[in-house]
Amino acid sequence: MRVLFLLLAATALAQPVRLIQNATFINDGKATANVSVLVRDGKIAAIGNNIKAPRGAEVVDAKGKFLLPGFVSAHVHVVEGKEARQLQVYARYGITTVWSFGGEKKAAFDFRAAQDTASLDRSRIYVAGDVITAQTPDEARAKVAQVAALKPDLIKIRVDDNLGSSPKMKPEVYKAVIEEAHKHKLPVAVHIFYLEDAKDALRAGADIIAHSVRDREIDDEFIALMKQRNIPYIPTLTREVSAFAYETTPDFFADPFFQKQADPAVVAQLKDPAKQEAMAKSMFARGYKRGLATAKINLKKAADAGLRIEMGTDSGAAPNRFEGYFEHLEMWMMAEAGLAPAQVLRYSTRPLKTGDWADLILLHSNPLDDIRNTKTINTVWIAGNRVP
Ligand SMILES: [Zn+2]
Repeated sequence: MRVLFLLLAATALAQPVRLIQNATFINDGKATANVSVLVRDGKIAAIGNNIKAPRGAEVVDAKGKFLLPGFVSAHVHVVEGKEARQLQVYARYGITTVWSFGGEKKAAFDFRAAQDTASLDRSRIYVAGDVITAQTPDEARAKVAQVAALKPDLIKIRVDDNLGSSPKMKPEVYKAVIEEAHKHKLPVAVHIFYLEDAKDALRAGADIIAHSVRDREIDDEFIALMKQRNIPYIPTLTREVSAFAYETTPDFFADPFFQKQADPAVVAQLKDPAKQEAMAKSMFARGYKRGLATAKINLKKAADAGLRIEMGTDSGAAPNRFEGYFEHLEMWMMAEAGLAPAQVLRYSTRPLKTGDWADLILLHSNPLDDIRNTKTINTVWIAGNRVP
C-alpha cells in the first residue's frame, strides 16, 4: 500500500514523458531525416528513427520541422539585478546555455547552482565572477585566489587599451593571473584586440580567446598557437556592431523577431537623434567599424584553418547589446563572413547525445538552407520543459 502510494506520488511529480517525432534532426551541423527524440525526467532518453511512444507520453509531431540542440553563447554578460529576465530572454531565443564572462554577482552564482534540475525552463549559465584587474603580479595572484574561492567556471581578464584610450594589463601581471588560475584548475579567458597580445597570452597559457583579433589579419603563428591546445576562438562580431549600429536607426529595429523581446525604453533612447549623432562622431564607432571588417576576415581564416570556433556575442553587457537577438544576428553575420550554415550551426551548438539535458529548439524552416531561418522558432525546450 505504502509502496503504491510512493509510486503514485513520484509519477505525479515527474515531468511528462515526451516524444518529439519525425523531425529533421540537425546535430553538430549534420542533418538526419525522420528522427525522434524521447525525453524523460528532463533528459534525452533515446534518439532514433523508430521510437514508439511509451504509454501516456505526450507526442509532439515535428514532421517537416527542424530539431536542433539549443544554441550556446560562449561569451555574454549577465548584469546584477537583471539576471532572471536575461536568462528568460535568452531562453525564448533558443539560447539555452550562456557563458557569462565576468562581473557576475551572487545571484548569477545562485542561478548556476540551481540549474541541475528537471524543472528548469530558463537558460543555463556559467560564470567567471569579477574580472581580474591588477597592477602587480602579487595583487593579481591574490585577486585570482579571492575569485577562485567562489568556485567560478573560469577566470576572465582584459588585455586591451580600448583603442588607445586606457592602460593595458602588463604581461607580467597576466602571466601571474594565468599561473594562479591554473593552480586552481580554472581556465582563463582573455579579452584581446591586438594580434600580438593574443599570441603572447597564448604563449603564457591562456585557454580561451574571448574576442576576434581585430587590428590585423591572423597569421600562421597564431593559428599554430591556437591549434596546439585546441583553444576556442569567440568572434563576438555583434560587439563591434553595437559600437556603431546606432549612428542611425538600424534595420533590425523593424524586425518583429527583435521587437518581441526588446525593451521599448532602450529602443527609444537609441533612436534619439542627439545620441545617434554623438555615436557617429565617436572614435570608438570608427575604430570598431574597422575592427569588424578585420574580424570577419579573421573568422573566415580561422574557420578555414580548422580552429575551434565558438559562437559568442558579448551581449547583455550593455543595454544596446540585445541578449538573444544578438546571438541570431551573430550567426547570420558569421555566414556573411563566408562560413557555410552547417559550420555556423556546429560552432553555435554542442552535439547532443543520450543522457544529456533535453535542451532543444524546433524550427519551422531549415537553417542549413538559409542561416536566417534560425529565427523561425516553433518551440524551445529546456530540460524538456517548454519555455514560456
Ligand atoms: Zn565580455
